[in-house]
Amino acid sequence: MDYFGLNVWADENFKIVGDKVVLNHAKKPSLLSIAQDVRQRGYKGPILLRFPHIIKKQIDKLFKTFNTTMDRFEYKGKFHAVFPLKVNQYPNFVNSLMRVSSSYRYGLEAGSKAELIIAMTKTPVGAPITINGFKDKEMIGLCFIAAKMGHNITITIEGLGELETIIDVNKSFNKEEHSTVMPNIGMRIRLHSSGIGIWAKSGGYSSKFGLTSTEVLKGFEMLKQENLLDSLTMVHFHIGSQMNEIGPLKKALREAGNIYADLKKRGAASLVAINIGGGLAVEYSQHSNMQDRNYSLKEFANDVVYLMQVIAQNKGVDEPDIYTESGRYIAASHSVLIAPVLELFTQEYHESSLIKKEVNPPLVEELFDLYNQITRGTAREYLHDALDHMESILTLFDLGYIDLEDRSNTEILVNLIIKKAMDLLRNEDTDELKQLQNRIQEKYLVNFSLFQSLPDFWGLEQQFPIMPLDRLDTKPTLPASIWDITCDSDGEIGFDPTYPLYLHDIDVTKEEYFLAFFLTGAYQEVLGMKHNLFTHPTEVVVTFDEDGNEVFSDIIEAQNLLDVLDDLDYDTGKIDKVLKKRIEESTIINNEEKRELLGKLYLYLSENSYLKTIQAIKENE
Ligand SMILES: *Cc1c(COP(=O)(O)O)cnc(C)c1O
Repeated sequence: MDYFGLNVWADENFKIVGDKVVLNHAKKPSLLSIAQDVRQRGYKGPILLRFPHIIKKQIDKLFKTFNTTMDRFEYKGKFHAVFPLKVNQYPNFVNSLMRVSSSYRYGLEAGSKAELIIAMTKTPVGAPITINGFKDKEMIGLCFIAAKMGHNITITIEGLGELETIIDVNKSFNKEEHSTVMPNIGMRIRLHSSGIGIWAKSGGYSSKFGLTSTEVLKGFEMLKQENLLDSLTMVHFHIGSQMNEIGPLKKALREAGNIYADLKKRGAASLVAINIGGGLAVEYSQHSNMQDRNYSLKEFANDVVYLMQVIAQNKGVDEPDIYTESGRYIAASHSVLIAPVLELFTQEYHESSLIKKEVNPPLVEELFDLYNQITRGTAREYLHDALDHMESILTLFDLGYIDLEDRSNTEILVNLIIKKAMDLLRNEDTDELKQLQNRIQEKYLVNFSLFQSLPDFWGLEQQFPIMPLDRLDTKPTLPASIWDITCDSDGEIGFDPTYPLYLHDIDVTKEEYFLAFFLTGAYQEVLGMKHNLFTHPTEVVVTFDEDGNEVFSDIIEAQNLLDVLDDLDYDTGKIDKVLKKRIEESTIINNEEKRELLGKLYLYLSENSYLKTIQAIKENE
């Protein structure tokens, strides 16, 4: 049974086999076995798994879909793609990306100087590099250096000031005695149509980016005057990330297509390409009734190719090459965060903790009866009664009529009744049950930081698929609220009846329970914050050898405590000295104990911030 909506979001990358979620690749290892393997090597806490074969699949799909669509339409332009580095600049990702895309001349897009350095290093010469965002003289200078290395680089100008800078920089880089090589120039246009969804701000008239039509015309004249019209090769737009519907894209395509055709007719002979930016959406939803996008890649490609063809034909110009800069679509699915559940909030509520008294207050006695006699038929009624009794008993306690043992028994019994009722009613789908669930959600304390690993949930309430790694043959019945280990009350994914998440009732003192967070490969890593000084989790690249066995490589362990402090520019040498001195000079311990404590201290300092143990669980092996 698929209780976690894999048919909506997993795109065949993951499947449920038996009671486990498995990677639908090679020998189909379960994520649990991969996680256990990694943990056995001594890595505890949350683990980020990267799967390069999934990156490859996305790139293959993108190129194949566009190329077949172009063939079908007998389209004369070519298809090109670059990966926008801002989506994920982590070396283990970028290196995997370049490795799996080597057959495509796939390039990189950069929006800052540091990203440009990555692009200049990692893009194979000949594959495209595109440059967006605001640029100064130095950044444009770097683009000239890239061009002179032989890179196929295009600077997209966001304003006329940048064009003036390019003209200036050209004069200093292309003096008479030098080769006259310069980057290509693209014009980002400010669309009058705009995107939709929570990321819509990057398109539209009020957008931060792009040239108005008046500026496009002026820029064209400037290039002509400077004899640089040959460098104008591209018209660019980007309507925003995670485009939920295709309508706005079509409008933008018509707008950009007509600007391209107009400029060509005015004599921009080298203008050969339209860059449609990114925005291709990812399905993050676990619920078929709450999906995030209303189109497929095929429809997307059809619309792009068809509209460009029609416009070019109508205007009598060549069909442009098409560039995309989709990032989220390429990167999101490649990584999975796996984190152990440390505790269930109500886990201390066990029958064995009940305190037997000779005489119980009548209401507590009734709770005992409700608990012992509850059946499927009476579940709802008994649940109501139990919740009611609890209110009364708590009032009695406040007034001093009953003691702490009665109160403890009440809490245990009510929680046991709730769990039993949820279990008995699990196949019902009534609104009332949902309301109840909302009220009595179970809190799962999970060894990860929401701020570090799912910042878009914190900032934008972006949903991510969440599921346990095993027990998937059992219907989960506890409405779940997930708590991270930061000391911040925002570090919680509360139970949301719109996107309900149910998890299993488990005893983590006896058995391990891991949660996986999927589709975390786009934007989350570099946006992640070190709130409470929880840093990037330990990461592992998982590939497969010819026999289909998994190979772990490029393991980067989460930073140890001193490195974390070093990053904040603490003088860790000093910290080290002070700690050592405080132990050595302590007057309340003897020398032998001092040696022992120093040993322990250095062991702890060499480890990361995430929790290793919270209860006597196997975490401690
Ligand atoms: C952010 C950005 C992209 C990538 O958008 P996705 O939604 O991740 O595909 C592409 N191009 C530009 C100019 C961007 O700013």
